[in-house]
Amino acid sequence: MPNVGLIYDPLYLWHDTGAHPESALRLTTIMHLLTEAGIIGRLKLLPPRDATIDEIAMVHDPDYIAQVRYIADSGGGWADPDTFISPRSYDAALRATGGCLAATDAVLRGDIDSAFCLVRPPGHHAMPDAAMGFCLFDNIAVAARYAHRQHGIERAAIIDFDIHHGNGTQAAFYEDPSVLYFSTHQYPYYPGTGHLEETGSGTGRGTNVNVPLPAGCGDDEFRRVFAEALEPILDRYAPQVIFVSAGYDGHFEDPLASMSLSVAGYGEIMTFLQRKARELAGGRLVCALEGGYHLLAEAWGVRASLEVLLGNRVTDDPFGKPSEPSGVHIDRVLAAVKTLHHLTVSPQV
Ligand SMILES: [Zn+2]
Repeated sequence: MPNVGLIYDPLYLWHDTGAHPESALRLTTIMHLLTEAGIIGRLKLLPPRDATIDEIAMVHDPDYIAQVRYIADSGGGWADPDTFISPRSYDAALRATGGCLAATDAVLRGDIDSAFCLVRPPGHHAMPDAAMGFCLFDNIAVAARYAHRQHGIERAAIIDFDIHHGNGTQAAFYEDPSVLYFSTHQYPYYPGTGHLEETGSGTGRGTNVNVPLPAGCGDDEFRRVFAEALEPILDRYAPQVIFVSAGYDGHFEDPLASMSLSVAGYGEIMTFLQRKARELAGGRLVCALEGGYHLLAEAWGVRASLEVLLGNRVTDDPFGKPSEPSGVHIDRVLAAVKTLHHLTVSPQV
């Protein structure tokens, strides 16, 4: 059985957002389901640690980090129209990022095969100098840069299957070829970025891959995008470790987005990512929770992901498939991705 690590800390519940879709109930629901299903006992529970300010500053402006701390220490408040900071949010955010660093250490040292970080606040919308979209510090981006600085990783991939574009992660590595960022997201949609032609700049040109998808995409469409675009891009880039921004807001029951993924579909996605990690990166896979706002659909999605990492098939899905076929067409967007990223096979001479 593969050795799979889990990062979790009750401090993550102290990021108290009140009546907000990104609430502590997300994590308690996931932990309850994983415990009930007997999955927790099959995982290696990794102790998280706090990230240092210097580590967060690999991605974020020190003035911004100080501002998050100041708002928390002053009793809390809104950092942007969507993002609340409570008195313990700064502490929770340091440990969320630090949890991802602890998982990265464990995977890159070979103590475990893969890791899943059940952290909050989430990270992928956090800009280098601003909170955004429920996110304070970009956990997975800091982990990728840490892998580079601390472990000498020259090529890391971040696969972001959250249904929103990870504008913060894109911004962190837009000019940096040492990290490949690949995002599937509903488009046009929050936060507005993630256009096809945002492909990176300078030496980072070509290592930022956006696949903006129409509302309604489900398991079939994601399977095609992963097989036809992600697979050749990963094969060409040959990452030494794969990070995953794992968001479950693409489930058809999710109240914030309009996609049609199923729990089984999330299992398929993780099966693909685990296979590519094994083929290209010695199996090294570090996943961090991003969004997911239907509590039970998210918990079942995480459960499916962990079953796959543990080497099991995903058989239980209380939600099933959406009742209507998606009826969406992604031929044009896929063709555009292939052209922009030079994936089209040239005719043999
Ligand atoms: Zn999201």
